[in-house]
Amino acid sequence: MSDLPRALTAIAPSQISSHAAPCCQASRQWLIAQATAASIDGRTGPDWVGRRIRWGPVVWPVYWCQLLREPTGDCGVQAAIAEFTCRELGMPVRRVQLILRCAGQELAQWELLWRNSPSTTRWIDGALCYHEAVAVGDRSIRILDATEPVIWTGREDGIVALRVVDPTCGDGLVDWDGTLINLNTWQSLERHEDLTRSERQLAQRPLIHGRV
Ligand SMILES: [Zn+2]
Repeated sequence: MSDLPRALTAIAPSQISSHAAPCCQASRQWLIAQATAASIDGRTGPDWVGRRIRWGPVVWPVYWCQLLREPTGDCGVQAAIAEFTCRELGMPVRRVQLILRCAGQELAQWELLWRNSPSTTRWIDGALCYHEAVAVGDRSIRILDATEPVIWTGREDGIVALRVVDPTCGDGLVDWDGTLINLNTWQSLERHEDLTRSERQLAQRPLIHGRV
């Protein structure tokens, strides 16, 4: 995707670090309890994350245990929590990276918020911003946002490109609301209708992977 800013496509999905001590284990148990309570409450997916972990700047690396003391995280923290807890609850889940086209007013507010913290704004490039979410489902996925209770459908305004990340699966296709998505590849939404016949046939094959 040569037309996408390298500064954004080079970002890896955020990973929360863990101390070799019980502190981080306790935090993960607390998060599992939150996710379990939400699922018992009849909700599926990670929409509880944004209510428990408020959105805002953080300085990386982020450790699990700091979320107990200071429940704040950017979209990367929230997506990492969503991935971890969905998997713990037995859902097939993958990380999703998005490049969104945002309104100038929003970007200006975010720039200001991040500039006033020790965090960096490497996730904004011109009118584009980098965002993280999760995809729930195996062959047919729903893209869920842990920052706000949004289900990305592909018809949303503002999604420029996305990458569905699956470290257990080198390539393969998943069906996102009728759109075939190549795993582990930045994909422009303009390309939705351009998949070849062989790619569509490939999509009929079962995926071979491990945990997901
Ligand atoms: Zn810790």
